Amino acid sequence: MKKELIFLGPPACGKGTQTTMLAEHLKFPHIDTGSLLRAEISAGTEAGKEAKLYIDEGHLVPVQLVARIIKNRLSQDDCKNGYILDGYPRSLEQADALTKMNDEINGNEEVDFRAIYFDIDTEVLIERIVNRRSCPKCGEIYNLAFKAPKQDGICDKCGEHLTQRKDDTREIAQERFDTYFKETAPLIDYYKSRGALKTIDANGGISEVWERLLKVVND
Ligand code: AMP
Repeated sequence: MKKELIFLGPPACGKGTQTTMLAEHLKFPHIDTGSLLRAEISAGTEAGKEAKLYIDEGHLVPVQLVARIIKNRLSQDDCKNGYILDGYPRSLEQADALTKMNDEINGNEEVDFRAIYFDIDTEVLIERIVNRRSCPKCGEIYNLAFKAPKQDGICDKCGEHLTQRKDDTREIAQERFDTYFKETAPLIDYYKSRGALKTIDANGGISEVWERLLKVVND
């Protein structure tokens, strides 16, 4: 049965790292809306230019713009057996849009849909964000505090120079948290009331969280 996995949790809760590992493990595509939007910005598309105005402020990009990008991506052949959707939906409106898209794409096919919530103490997360670095070439994510690259500023995997996201400053991070609590956190109850929510304790190291994630994915 097709497995549709979506992920909820505050900025820098570890979703990016864990969902990248999970995608490799399950051989499903890893669809990360933040990265898709940043790719549009780098490519200089009209969508990217519009998205940048919101991303730079720590606000959500308009619902229609993201829906167009996501529907296009979920309709592709590599999503047939399942997908990992990281960073979408982020509001009740987007959750309704996703249900509609999935219904249109799947028709009468029965699917296994799960919303996996990364439950974490949020006090430490701003520090995580300001220490975050990533590889613009292969997408590997590092953290200077607990997953530093072997050589300063260089990607272990592909040797590229690491970069810091423009929205990973203290001020914009705070905005992103405010947006998360206002717009995205209500999705926890939304999916719970539909019997689709699985919660994992996302405090602790990468391997501890990974074991917990595998349990809820395989159960
Ligand atoms: P992320 O890489 O997941 O931290 O996302 C970075 C930024 O991209 C967010 O702060 C939003 O501005 C934008 N973004 C990502 N996903 C969405 C979404 N589902 N809806 C609207 N904006 C989004």
